[in-house]
Amino acid sequence: MPEIIIIGAGLTGLSCARFLKQPFLLLEKTGNPGGLCSSETRNGFVFDHSGHFLHMKDVRVKKLVASILKNNLTLIQRNAWIYTHQSTIPFPFQAHLSYLPDGLKKECLDGIRQRNGESLPASSSLYAWSMATFGSGITRYFMKPYNEKLWTVSSRVLRADWCAPFVPRPTIAEMTASATADSAKKFGYNAHFNYFKRGGCQSLINAFAASVPSIAYHTSPKKICAAKREMQLSNGKVLSYTSLVSTQPLYALIDHIADAPPAVRAARQRLRWNTVICYNVAVRKGTPNQPIAGGRHWVYFPEKKFPFYRVGVYSNIMPAMAPKGYASLYVEISHRPDDRVNEKTEIAAITRALYESRMLSVDDHIEFACASPIKCAYVIFDKSRTAAVSTIQSWLTANNIYSIGRYGAWEYSFMEKNIIDGMETAHTLNLCR
Ligand SMILES: Cc1cc2nc3c(=O)[nH]c(=O)nc-3n(C[C@H](O)[C@H](O)[C@H](O)COP(=O)(O)OP(=O)(O)OC[C@H]3O[C@@H](n4cnc5c(N)ncnc54)[C@H](O)[C@@H]3O)c2cc1C
Repeated sequence: MPEIIIIGAGLTGLSCARFLKQPFLLLEKTGNPGGLCSSETRNGFVFDHSGHFLHMKDVRVKKLVASILKNNLTLIQRNAWIYTHQSTIPFPFQAHLSYLPDGLKKECLDGIRQRNGESLPASSSLYAWSMATFGSGITRYFMKPYNEKLWTVSSRVLRADWCAPFVPRPTIAEMTASATADSAKKFGYNAHFNYFKRGGCQSLINAFAASVPSIAYHTSPKKICAAKREMQLSNGKVLSYTSLVSTQPLYALIDHIADAPPAVRAARQRLRWNTVICYNVAVRKGTPNQPIAGGRHWVYFPEKKFPFYRVGVYSNIMPAMAPKGYASLYVEISHRPDDRVNEKTEIAAITRALYESRMLSVDDHIEFACASPIKCAYVIFDKSRTAAVSTIQSWLTANNIYSIGRYGAWEYSFMEKNIIDGMETAHTLNLCR
């Protein structure tokens, strides 16, 4: 009889299972482990669900990953760019103003000078925070259009409380100096990142899954009764548990709980998210021995005229991701969850835009493109999120339900944090034995 039920065999669920010292049942609704960190192999191409790069600061995670992945990890220096107004600018935009056309550069410099120097709290709108931090030009040409395209909501609705780890903040002097000279300084949490020499992100998942005795595939909860600590499975079977760990999206968990109180249900209605369709694209290269797109790893596209907000090249990051003579890309397009998307039309628009933006040259030939939809991709940080999550999590914790991981915790997190979440939840549960 399991004492603990874990919902979801993504990275967070696998990490929790790995560290638990008591009987557990790990449920996975699909037929494979990994969730968003899984990879798909097709015609010799290995595709992730868009770029999945490992950033590690925590010593425990570094040690664990090194021991389970053996020699399959390598450190890579970021080669990321922004394409706007027919110019290509190194990332981050705000530290490379010299690459901009003269008119835009002047606007960005004027904007930096005219900032009122006010330090706005993270609870401000992204728009207000960006105006105060970077000034009007950088906000107008990058921060506003790029973020509105990615998040699918206005930058006046979006809060700035997700920014701190992800948005590089050069000093005023550094931004100003960047209009005249290139600096060797690397900005941002991902200036260097780890990637897998073989097998894509799935190799990390396989290494975690190897230590988990069994996973119940094609199994998910139908109904949960928190008061009785009981779960009815999709196959009709009813199980009792002492603690429940959930890594499915927070809204889906609440939808499964029959006895969630009205305040929790109301908070669930306030959760918002976007959908991303990652199009994986296989390309026969016009020049077989050269990387495509000048070897760039990924490029951000703030302008509306391009359908995607980011395009990455797996095979420029790790040549083993594509057969010899071929390249592979990920193309990310954001939608609102209820948008009706015609993937064929979207692929036609992507094809045109890849050539127009010179990600592909006329001699490069698209062999195939396939859509990998990420139904819940980015949690929207609006003014309701913090209070709604707190209401829900307080009630769940009081009922021995741990909702963790990027979508369980309803946050903007990444693989290292997910591994830690799983590990720390397991340690807490081990202490409760
Ligand atoms: C576009 C994009 C790019 C990203 N890039 C990076 C990156 O470069 N680096 C990085 O560190 N992170 C990146 N991330 C974040 C990373 O994907 C997540 O942090 C990570 O996948 C979260 O793992 P998880 O196990 O918490 O959730 P998931 O990967 O969502 O796994 C949850 C699992 O639960 C299963 N499940 C769901 N509902 C049920 C149910 N009812 N019953 C049973 N099983 C269920 C799912 O099938 C899945 O297997 C990116 C995310 C996105 C969207």
